[in-house]
Amino acid sequence: MTSPVRAGIGFDIHRLVAGRRLILAGVEVPHERGALAHSDGDVVLHAAADAILGAAGLGDLGEHFPDSDPAWKDAASAAILGRVLEMARKAGWTPTSADVNVFLERPKLMAYKAAMRKRLAELLGLPPDAVGLKARTMEGLGPIGAGDAVAAQAVVMLARAGSI
Ligand code: MG
Repeated sequence: MTSPVRAGIGFDIHRLVAGRRLILAGVEVPHERGALAHSDGDVVLHAAADAILGAAGLGDLGEHFPDSDPAWKDAASAAILGRVLEMARKAGWTPTSADVNVFLERPKLMAYKAAMRKRLAELLGLPPDAVGLKARTMEGLGPIGAGDAVAAQAVVMLARAGSI
């Protein structure tokens, strides 16, 4: 029998470069660098969207939103996540919780975490207490530690629509 509950995992990383905005979970974080990406480069929403696709057995973000597609150039990642949620719903799945780690050396996200969590919950159609959002540095290690990249990982739980 198919389980009425599924877990998906997602990961995303983007280079940080001058002249781009830094958008995390739909929230603009003031910084002298932003994510280099075809879309707005929101690693939190990309990781969450990939987790949903994985849990629903629908492939991955690269298949559905290729960098070669001009339709998604500089696209708000909220629109991409919305499309993924619609795909999952059509397949009979709805999110029940999510948990995200953000890896960023600077700026510190303490002042933005509440807004990011709230926005992510809104986008997923979940109460804030069903969404976790943690921020951490890489202790100066590697490209993220050097301030040259931002990454996020996400776990999203899905339940069969109608089973909750
Ligand atoms: Mg991405």
